[in-house]
Amino acid sequence: MNTPSAASLIVTVAAFALATLTAATAEPSSRSSTHRIVIAYETPSNPAHGRLRDLLVEARVLEQVQEILSPFRLPNPLPISMESCGESDARYLYDEARIKICYEYIDDIWKDMPAETTAAGVTPIDATVGPLADAFFHEFGHAIFDLHKIPVLGREEYAADTMSAMLMLFLAKGEARRLIMGAAYWYTDDLETNVTIKPKEFSSVHGTPHQRFFNLLCIAYGSDHETFADLVEKGFLPEERAEDCKGEFQQAAYAFDRLIRPHMDEALATQVFGKRWMPDVSIQPPRLPNPGSGTPDTTSSTN
Ligand SMILES: [Zn+2]
Repeated sequence: MNTPSAASLIVTVAAFALATLTAATAEPSSRSSTHRIVIAYETPSNPAHGRLRDLLVEARVLEQVQEILSPFRLPNPLPISMESCGESDARYLYDEARIKICYEYIDDIWKDMPAETTAAGVTPIDATVGPLADAFFHEFGHAIFDLHKIPVLGREEYAADTMSAMLMLFLAKGEARRLIMGAAYWYTDDLETNVTIKPKEFSSVHGTPHQRFFNLLCIAYGSDHETFADLVEKGFLPEERAEDCKGEFQQAAYAFDRLIRPHMDEALATQVFGKRWMPDVSIQPPRLPNPGSGTPDTTSSTN
């Protein structure tokens, strides 16, 4: 009986190692599938949030988030819930691999809603839907980075903001613009000029609200100079920054194509992103009773 020669043993070991490696890298994608978002509107512990929950259920907010994110293949089901947290918060919980959006946070968005369409053209409904979508998409950014172990070079908070902006921009032009403008309103209330910020606030892992505002407008303008031309013309986005926005968008699009798109079902994405998502622009969201917890805080941001 022949014993294997050293050379053939090496070949055998190498082949085995290759097979193991291939299996290890192929396994996550083969287990991944679309339609992995699991939703829940938890009962608020603060009864004053009951009306808010009813409005969100009526508007089918979580069902819409579930469908918009359905084209992304995930290795595990991803729970997304609205719940009471005792503080204004929205975050992806790494140890539980789930997203929670707090009623307190949504209530803050509601309180920040302008009474009428702003000078920049942001309607009350867009000022509500935009920041809400931004919160879900930003947290989904954290989730997909984590679940697929996607490398992030740079600050993850910026990458999650970019992921959110890209998702908004994937929607039909008019829809994307309304979402972007609504989300931008949340950061600065139409660019208040007088800002007081303590030095330590610059140490946050997040950009400051104004930085996030400019980053969002820049990526939008960079994606489509025509649709977002007025952002520069009206001075919301300074020309000095605007000059580089096309490059910033292209860099983000390249990263998305290389790192995220392989986890997306293209045909499903085309179908889902092409749908009409935004509610009628004239809808006036009802004012809500003061729940007696949390205060309006326009500097709140997603985590
Ligand atoms: Zn974050």
